[in-house]
Amino acid sequence: MQQEKITIIGGGVAAMTAAVYLTEQDDWQQHRDITVYQQGWRLGGKGASGRNAEYGQRIEEHGLHVWFGAYVNSFKTIETVYDKLNRPASCPLNTWQKALQPHSFIALQELIANEWQTWPIDFPLIPGNPAQGSLDISVWDFVTMALAWLHKWVDEIEHICTEKKTTTQLTTKKLRDQFLLRHLYQQIEDVVDKSSAAVQRFADDLTQGAREIVSTPSLLISQLNQLVHRQVGQVTNSSEQKDRLVIWYIVRKLKRWFNAELIESMDENAELRRLFICADLAIAMLVGLIKDKVYRDGFAVINQYDFREWLLKNGANQQYSVNSAPIRGFYDLVFAYPNGDFSKPNVEAGVAALAMLRIGLCYRGGVMWKMQAGMGDVIFAPIYELLSKRGVKFVFFHQLTDLTPGVDAQGRPIVERIQLCQQASLKETVYQPLVDVKNLPCWPSNPLYHQLDPVQAQLLQDNDINLESFWSNWPKIYQDNFNQPLPIKQLNVADDFDTLILGVSVASLPHVAKKLLAIDPALAKQATEVQSVATQACQLWLNKTDQQLGWQYTPASGEGPILSGFVEPFDTWAAMANLIDKEAWPDNNSPQNIAYFCSALSCDDYPPANDYAFPVQIKATVKNNMINLLNNDMSALWPLAYQHNQFDWQLLHSQPIAHVPAIEQQYWRANVDPSERYVLSVKGSSQYRLTTDGTVFTNLLLTGDWIKTGVNAGCVEAAVMAGMQTSRAVCGYPEYISGEDAFNTH
Ligand SMILES: Cc1cc2nc3c(=O)[nH]c(=O)nc-3n(C[C@H](O)[C@H](O)[C@H](O)COP(=O)(O)OP(=O)(O)OC[C@H]3O[C@@H](n4cnc5c(N)ncnc54)[C@H](O)[C@@H]3O)c2cc1C
Repeated sequence: MQQEKITIIGGGVAAMTAAVYLTEQDDWQQHRDITVYQQGWRLGGKGASGRNAEYGQRIEEHGLHVWFGAYVNSFKTIETVYDKLNRPASCPLNTWQKALQPHSFIALQELIANEWQTWPIDFPLIPGNPAQGSLDISVWDFVTMALAWLHKWVDEIEHICTEKKTTTQLTTKKLRDQFLLRHLYQQIEDVVDKSSAAVQRFADDLTQGAREIVSTPSLLISQLNQLVHRQVGQVTNSSEQKDRLVIWYIVRKLKRWFNAELIESMDENAELRRLFICADLAIAMLVGLIKDKVYRDGFAVINQYDFREWLLKNGANQQYSVNSAPIRGFYDLVFAYPNGDFSKPNVEAGVAALAMLRIGLCYRGGVMWKMQAGMGDVIFAPIYELLSKRGVKFVFFHQLTDLTPGVDAQGRPIVERIQLCQQASLKETVYQPLVDVKNLPCWPSNPLYHQLDPVQAQLLQDNDINLESFWSNWPKIYQDNFNQPLPIKQLNVADDFDTLILGVSVASLPHVAKKLLAIDPALAKQATEVQSVATQACQLWLNKTDQQLGWQYTPASGEGPILSGFVEPFDTWAAMANLIDKEAWPDNNSPQNIAYFCSALSCDDYPPANDYAFPVQIKATVKNNMINLLNNDMSALWPLAYQHNQFDWQLLHSQPIAHVPAIEQQYWRANVDPSERYVLSVKGSSQYRLTTDGTVFTNLLLTGDWIKTGVNAGCVEAAVMAGMQTSRAVCGYPEYISGEDAFNTH
């Protein structure tokens, strides 16, 4: 049998996932021959990280990356990778359970009367392996789970109200409302527990036709809960109308009670405010899921709205709930600020609602999982090792510059030629990309120059060339020094490849696939409608722990926070001291603490590729933002890091041999390159996402977090699902991808 020659361009999560599944069967090489071309010296794309040998082999990331316990497909994949790789016990992260650890402690920042208040949330650990979870749960499952939480929150609110001696009694006199309550009661009568006096009175009022029916918020929500439980999966058209009216009635009643009894205490009573926010948001989401018939038509039907817009439309309180810390925190998490404009948040309601519900209700183990080294070390090094062992070929330092369309023997459009620029020549035939840090195979933060042609290696270092940069002047320097352009490699269809898996990100398409966009309007539409945003990240190494810096909230587990909803332009902070022992600092000068900050980066104008100064300028903006953060904002979280309102710069860890001030020794970066920009889900954009084989080109498969999956958002899980989809399109495996139908009509 003839092997199918597969060329993969790019080594991000999606492309590497595709390669993992394409090589799962033992006899895969009888069917396929796979070569990966990657620009620069490392795999990982937006998730790439590097070890900096000049600074204690510290980890340098593109930005904070965490996994959620609801990333079923990602955990399944990484479990497979670690199991099949079977690293020796001498490797510190030889199992996925060591490489990723559950994390439960989240903090959200609320700005109340111009003061930052911290809302600490310690999520429960849920037993089980996230790889064995499921994202295939129906909207009704979400409704029932959300109602169970609502029940808990309303109970707690009622308890506080009872203590404060505010009323919890609700009365109903209108005949129409009494009719609805009677309908509710009839549906669930046989399961109602009448042991409490309140329920007994409610039942008596209804059955005896009392003029006024008395209930309480928790009673109503508990009855609603029972009604929905009974109706799961069997909502009939005849009962639907009445059930909806019952829900509206209860929601209206609860909201009126909230407004009458709670609103005034919101600013001074944090506990009440937070319960209110949770309950009010849950109600708005429940109303929206039902009113907009999401349970019938799938989450895509509400993607025409921005999430906040949709919550507002469904009755959420604007001041406290729509602009609450959880909602801001969610927008921060998905960098949902087109052009990095924090005044114009925008994320599709269907995508956001589904993501929030999955994150909160579908997780196993921790709500989040933290990687116990760099993302490159924990994810991409084992994938690289496994794929190499299996016989996949990796060609580094090859940058895609152009794709040429053509037609096949039947006249159907295909990709005919792939043009790559060879960025550097190797000394030997193969590049060995990993370095050993304390027995862990890792990616370095720079190319391993000793493996490159020595003259080129020297030039690259002398000119501080970044081979991942879109704005690199390396082609010019090369031309000036060698009197010829960088070598070009052409791959021709049939001779060199049969199938192309394109794993670069969506913002790269206009630069590398212009001629394809001119032929395929749907691909062109996807390239313009699925937007991306620049992001910024900084990492600090410190001489004191968070507690010594004045951080006040530490749960029993001792975990440091992953905190969001904070002041722009750095809205997210993660305490990362867990990584100190994975780095290799000198014993007598080790940092005590590591802090990662991350957020969207304001940038609405990307200059042409020959504006070589742009990366330096934009990186300087990030440095400024970092200094401002320390000068002005971190006092809210680290009050003891300040003396007379001035940040104590001595707190930054430094190495005397570096001969530069401590601030210069920290790490910061601007992710502005087309393929490094974070993929957004702005309202109305998901409809333009194509599936992996959705272009007109019969030998082209797209892959990345920007294609159509059951997530449609920029995250590891979406990228993994995309890679699985791509592999399935080639070889039919894997047949099943958890959660992939969420946006389809049910
Ligand atoms: C700062 C930041 C923080 C994030 N945090 C999280 C998080 O906490 N949790 C989470 O789930 N997700 C997070 N994400 C999103 C996550 O990183 C992405 O969803 C995921 O990495 C996308 O993978 P991908 O395969 O789609 O694309 P990419 O990672 O973009 O991969 C593209 C690949 O193509 C290569 N490439 C590009 N151009 C060329 C070319 N011309 N020639 C050859 N190769 C090329 C790249 O080098 C790369 O290998 C974050 C993203 C960013 C930017």
